[in-house]
Amino acid sequence: MIWDLVIIGGGPVGSYAGYLSAKNNIKTLILEEHDKIGEPIHCLGKLSVHAFEEFHLPKETIVNNLKGGYFFSPSGEYLKLKKDSSDSFILDRILFDKIIAEKAEKSGCSYSFNSKAIGVNHYENHSTLIVEEKGKTKYINTKVILVAEGAKRQFLRKIGLKIRPYLVSLQYEISGLNPLDRECVEVYLGSTYSQGFFLWISPFKNIAKLGVAVNPSYNPKVFLDNFIRNKLKERSEKIYIEKAYGGIIPIFGPYEEFIPPNILIVGDAAGYNKSTTGGGIYFGLKGAEIAVNQIKKYLEDYNKAYLSDYPKLTHRSFGKELTFTKVARKFLNSLCDDDFNLIWSVLKENDKIVKTMEKYGDTAYQTSIIKIFPNLITSKSFVKLLPLIKTLIKSLL
Ligand SMILES: Cc1cc2nc3c(=O)[nH]c(=O)nc-3n(C[C@H](O)[C@H](O)[C@H](O)COP(=O)(O)OP(=O)(O)OC[C@H]3O[C@@H](n4cnc5c(N)ncnc54)[C@H](O)[C@@H]3O)c2cc1C
Repeated sequence: MIWDLVIIGGGPVGSYAGYLSAKNNIKTLILEEHDKIGEPIHCLGKLSVHAFEEFHLPKETIVNNLKGGYFFSPSGEYLKLKKDSSDSFILDRILFDKIIAEKAEKSGCSYSFNSKAIGVNHYENHSTLIVEEKGKTKYINTKVILVAEGAKRQFLRKIGLKIRPYLVSLQYEISGLNPLDRECVEVYLGSTYSQGFFLWISPFKNIAKLGVAVNPSYNPKVFLDNFIRNKLKERSEKIYIEKAYGGIIPIFGPYEEFIPPNILIVGDAAGYNKSTTGGGIYFGLKGAEIAVNQIKKYLEDYNKAYLSDYPKLTHRSFGKELTFTKVARKFLNSLCDDDFNLIWSVLKENDKIVKTMEKYGDTAYQTSIIKIFPNLITSKSFVKLLPLIKTLIKSLL
């Protein structure tokens, strides 16, 4: 038997692609290395409102509404940016993944659990995936392969690609702490809180998630435990770690998206994550939609251009956004604690800028922040930021 499409990975992106392809009568199989969907979990589960407007996603998985955030500088000053309405949601990620997979199955997509793709051979009209299933090897034939295996790129590394830049992260589900505002995340910037990223607190159901991501040469646990000891104990004596989990977050993507003759790559495996926040679900789903569209066209007349065009189309759709977050991450990573403190002091003096950020800030489309520049450049205190222009220019290169 030859499948039209085999998807490697039953995360949200793989399952959403499976749902779309089965709906289009593409004979689809999803290989998932674990025995169930959604676990082990690693994610915070923050997803922008755009995703729910654009895709058929299960609203019943929303556990918190978010309207913005409190952004802390290293000196402890914070900027509160809060909209009047929700800009994103916190999801029950396990349930989210499960419901998307159920939708895929209902549309006719098949799943094979405990099945890890470890290699591939290509033939004239199809490819054969080499799959490990409970210690046994099986071979699965398919016309097209969509790799949605997440950040670790296990299959891709087996076929000769490399792991690309990533961060390591750890998250605690904690009880006994009241977030400052149940409609906002708290973001802590500076070298005490993270090296290479930031630390966050988010409401999660009626408790909170405390997480951090750092460059791989650091240990995220040290940052979280110090934060609890030095900061959170002041806020509550009763903090209790209910669960701990971690994962890796790709940054500075996108990476390879098409490998001839018939392999498309999507989601975290392709580095569709915003380098500023690590969020990857939204652009992953967008990528899945584009990939399935191209695969559908390819299966109609076997014109390979439909497959090789895929990276061009994803770049057209969200490449500018990913590039912007890459530049922003490079810039943020070049700042020292005093630079952050300086930026905060300037922003706190300029209510107009803060209001513009609140109005136009968009967690998915972060280029919208460019709208603050006219106010920023014309503000009296802008001159204080001039020493940072050189750093900004370097980040553009
Ligand atoms: C701490 C943390 C917090 C995050 N918070 C957010 C957030 O708030 N918002 C957001 O948008 N994103 C967030 N992300 C990123 C988000 O989790 C990913 O972008 C998202 O899960 C990507 O989905 P995916 O389907 O591409 O990959 P995954 O969800 O990683 O799914 C990949 C699937 O493939 C399976 N698999 C792997 N290799 C193989 C193989 N060889 N064969 C078969 N199966 C395989 C895995 O078991 C897994 O089920 C966070 C990530 C981390 C680590």
